Amino acid sequence: MTDMMNGVVLSGTGGRWEVRLEDGTVVEASLRGRLKKSDGGLRADGTIRRDTIAAASAKLKLAVGDDVQLEREMATDDWAIGEILPRRSQLARRAPGGGFGQRVIVANVDQVVVVFAAAKPDPHERMLDRFLVIAEANGIAARVVVNKVELVDGEAVRRRFAPYVRAGYPVHFTSVKAGEGLDELRAVLSGRRSVFTGPSGVGKSSLLNALFPGASLRVGEISESVNKGRHTTVGARMLPLPEEGGGYAIDTPGLREIGLWDLALEDLDACFPEVAALEHGCQFNDCRHITEPGCVVRAAVQRGDFSRERYESYLHLLEELHAGSRS
Ligand code: GDP
Ligand code: ZN
Repeated sequence: MTDMMNGVVLSGTGGRWEVRLEDGTVVEASLRGRLKKSDGGLRADGTIRRDTIAAASAKLKLAVGDDVQLEREMATDDWAIGEILPRRSQLARRAPGGGFGQRVIVANVDQVVVVFAAAKPDPHERMLDRFLVIAEANGIAARVVVNKVELVDGEAVRRRFAPYVRAGYPVHFTSVKAGEGLDELRAVLSGRRSVFTGPSGVGKSSLLNALFPGASLRVGEISESVNKGRHTTVGARMLPLPEEGGGYAIDTPGLREIGLWDLALEDLDACFPEVAALEHGCQFNDCRHITEPGCVVRAAVQRGDFSRERYESYLHLLEELHAGSRS
C-alpha cells in the first residue's frame, strides 16, 4: 500500500530532500531509484553518448524548487519522490568543468528580486546589471529593491535608479526602518516564488521579516547552516511565505557563482532590454555596438535613452564574454 501526494522540494543536495507537502507539512524524502539513475546516455560498453547526456540529466536531475509527486510506503512510513513534474522555469549554470549538461540551481522561479541599499552599503550598479543579465539569460522576470531609502534624499535616489525604470524593471524604494514601500513589495511577492539576491547587509532578512512577521526568515544564514560540512557551496533553499496566497522566498548563494561565460556572446543584446528594443536597427547585422558606423545603440546612448553607465556595463560584460570564449 502506498499513499500519493504532491509537494515542493525545499532544500537538499544528494540523497535526502526536504519536501513540503500540499497540506503544509515538511517531510524528508529520498529519490526513487529509477529516477536517480541516468542511464539514458550510456552505451552497452559503459561509455557515455555525448549527445544524450545533456537531455538525460536535464530530465532526471532533481532540483530545489521542483514540484514532485511522492509516494509513502505505509510499512516503513518513508516518503519517496517518484515523479518530477514539468518545470516552468529554472536558474541554471553550466556543469562544472564545462562540457555537457547543466546544473539547475533552482527550478520554477517566478522572479528574481535584486536588493540593494540606498546607502550603507552604497549601491553597486555594475553588480546590479550583472544580476539582471543573469535573470534575463534564464528568461526570468526581475525587479529591483532599493532599501534604506530613509538614509538618503528621496529624489536623488530615484534619479539614480531611473535608468532601470526606463529599461522596464519595476523598482521598489523601501525602508524597513521607516516602514516605507512595504505593502507594495509584499503584494508582488505574495503567491510567487522569488529568488532574493544582493550584497549582504542591504537588509534582505530585515525586509522579509518586516513583510512576513513571525516567519523568521533569515536569508543567508540558513544556507550557511544547511551547507555546513558539505562540499557543495551551491545550495538553494525555499522559504515558505506565511501568506494565504502562498509563495516562497528563495535564498540561493549559487546565483553569484553563475559565470557570465554561460552566456553566448551574441545573446548579450537580448539581456539588456534597452538594446533588445533596438534590435536589427544597426547598419551591421553582427554589430557589437562598440565602434561600428550606423550603430543605433550608441546613438541611443548619445541621446540619453540608454544610460551611459548601463552601456559601460554592457561593454564590460561583452569583454568578459569575449575573454571567456577564447579560453
Ligand atoms: P542582509 O544581509 O541583506 O540580510 O541584511 P540584514 O537584514 O541583516 O540587515 C543589515 C543591517 O541593515 C541590519 O543592521 C539592519 O537593522 C539594517 N537595516 C535593514 N533595513 C534597514 C532600513 O530600511 N534602514 C536602515 N537604516 N537600516 C536597515
Ligand atoms: Zn550597434
